[in-house]
Amino acid sequence: MNIQELISKTNDLNWQEKILFVEKNFQKIIFSTSFSAEDQVLTDYIAKQKLSIKFFTIDTFRLFDETYQTWQKTIDNYKIKIASFNPQTNILKKFVESHGINAFYRSADLRKQCCAIRKVEPLKKALKGYQIWISGVRQEHSAIRADKNFFEYDDNLQIIKFYPLLKFSEQQLWSYITEHQVIYNKLHDLGFRSIGCNPCTRAISKNDEPRSGRWWWENDQHKECGLHKS
Ligand code: SF4
Repeated sequence: MNIQELISKTNDLNWQEKILFVEKNFQKIIFSTSFSAEDQVLTDYIAKQKLSIKFFTIDTFRLFDETYQTWQKTIDNYKIKIASFNPQTNILKKFVESHGINAFYRSADLRKQCCAIRKVEPLKKALKGYQIWISGVRQEHSAIRADKNFFEYDDNLQIIKFYPLLKFSEQQLWSYITEHQVIYNKLHDLGFRSIGCNPCTRAISKNDEPRSGRWWWENDQHKECGLHKS
């Protein structure tokens, strides 16, 4: 099934029905979780429905303690397996020895190199052999994400990307979390609306752009780590 067929056949379905449709029509589906509020909602649904969808996360080795705690609570609660992908030790070692442990603050180029080593390369390994990659991207996150469709083909990664919560508002997200008593990262209670690596994420105020706490020292308005290119 190509993207156009997928879009037209799932157009009138709600987000849960879209997931069920995909699960019924594809064998190799993988879901990436960073334990964000969005990912916790998707985990809750996929785990409770016992769908044939694999879980994975990327451990950059620079995550918050609160994220590791959320990770542990999630596997304990749902009794699911979450595969963990990490940066290649020899490449990371070289990068850190050449540029320092916090090189990302020095230039956008070094920041992108760090994201490439710690996130993008592990992502490529995780997605190998899969047809569909489910992710918690929402349109409200940023201008780039506002242009996305529920399904996209990523030429670079050669995989169909699927964003079930694309149209979700922040309010809908938190209503689901409250109603279903979903485990969430406690940093969200402290003003962290988008949570990535510890040194590259800070709390923001209610009126700020949702992703403005990420790489806040950079001026570029379209900041992404390379996992979700425009
Ligand atoms: S978010 Fe920061 S620490 Fe994490 S991979 Fe990117 S630059 Fe490196």
